[in-house]
Amino acid sequence: MHSVAEALRLILEAAEPNPAARVALGDAVGSVLADDLASDVDSPPHDKSLVDGYAVLAADLAAGSARLQVLEEVTAGAVPARAVVRGTATRLMTGAPLPAGAEAVVKVEQSALEPAADGSLGWVELHAQGVAAGDNVMARGSSLRRGELVLRRGVRLRPLEIGLLAETGAATVPVVRRPSVAVVATGNELVSVDAVPTAGQIRNSNGPLLLAALGQEGVPAKDLGIAADDPNRLEATVQRGLEADVLLLSGGVSAGVLDLVPLVLERLGVERVFHKVRLKPGKPLWFGVHRGDGGRRLVFGLPGNPVSTLVCFELFVRPALRRLAGRSDWERPAVAALLTHDFAHRGERPTYHPARLRREGPAWHAEPLLWRGSADQRALVEADALAIFPAGDRHWRAGEAIDVLPL
Ligand code: AMP
Ligand code: MG
Repeated sequence: MHSVAEALRLILEAAEPNPAARVALGDAVGSVLADDLASDVDSPPHDKSLVDGYAVLAADLAAGSARLQVLEEVTAGAVPARAVVRGTATRLMTGAPLPAGAEAVVKVEQSALEPAADGSLGWVELHAQGVAAGDNVMARGSSLRRGELVLRRGVRLRPLEIGLLAETGAATVPVVRRPSVAVVATGNELVSVDAVPTAGQIRNSNGPLLLAALGQEGVPAKDLGIAADDPNRLEATVQRGLEADVLLLSGGVSAGVLDLVPLVLERLGVERVFHKVRLKPGKPLWFGVHRGDGGRRLVFGLPGNPVSTLVCFELFVRPALRRLAGRSDWERPAVAALLTHDFAHRGERPTYHPARLRREGPAWHAEPLLWRGSADQRALVEADALAIFPAGDRHWRAGEAIDVLPL
């Protein structure tokens, strides 16, 4: 049986990043850039005013104040028609291009306008000490130049990068294609969330749990519903699931008489990479790869118990999805925390035990929660972390340090 680390290594090895695809800028947030991108414009495109004010020659303000003739008024988006020369000024709005000849902009707060009697712009009185060329002006191309590299491949696109890409004309963006995922819950006992379970039945909670986790991860997911424990029907559903890059099945991978998932997967040519991991909960995890006409597919047979499904998703599926999407942040660092209570650990597998993580002063503190095992997802609602108790029987004392995985 593989260790958690070994199982993860095998999964990541199979999860090489997807090929690149072009997506509309509006769909690119969260994706990883697949190519270096250059700007098709200078930014700003002209020497531009950073304030509302008057474009002047610095020499006119050498005495600290001046009375200048106003040539014209230029708003953002308009273009100046006249050059500023000694004794004149042009009224500019923020973002407007600097007129030819002008060197600096004096803020409107430092001015008093004297409109002419005929309604024309007239004269302005400016009061500003030490005006120098370049004051309140952003020079053309000072943010970026046409042809200059804006973003490097491998960057994960945040709203910030989307803004920069919009400025530089990237209407479509080359990204690493995000993996598509199909979700199937298996089990004769399962009914959907809108049904009232009758004798022997329970509601399918793994399906909604996985779809929610995928939604949060920003991955497009398809819900293939519930498949009964019947080899032929399961086979038909799995076949549909193999259209996605990743197929997540829950249930049917342990040692029961109706645990048909491994059998059906192998019948459909999904190559088993491993079955079972030294881990609690989550031991029955099955992982395999299908290589067909449609390309490589990763298949996870997740254990049916809800907490096992969640733990396997966090430890194995989420890192795989991130690597497929070209992300490098698939590693989940554990934090060291001090136990708040004594805890007796038993068993030959490491246990990922639901816990509450709190910061008190300089240290993290972990409280192992009362938990009735892998079918008890109620306890998880109280949890925001998993405390990792290494394999072996040991009485852990309050105050001892332990690794904890924040959820
Ligand atoms: P299995 O591995 O199929 O034997 O399932 C293990 C346990 O998990 C059984 O008690 C199942 O009823 C339960 N289980 C399986 N699938 C689901 C599901 N989708 N939602 C909630 N519980 C499930
Ligand atoms: Mg089952």
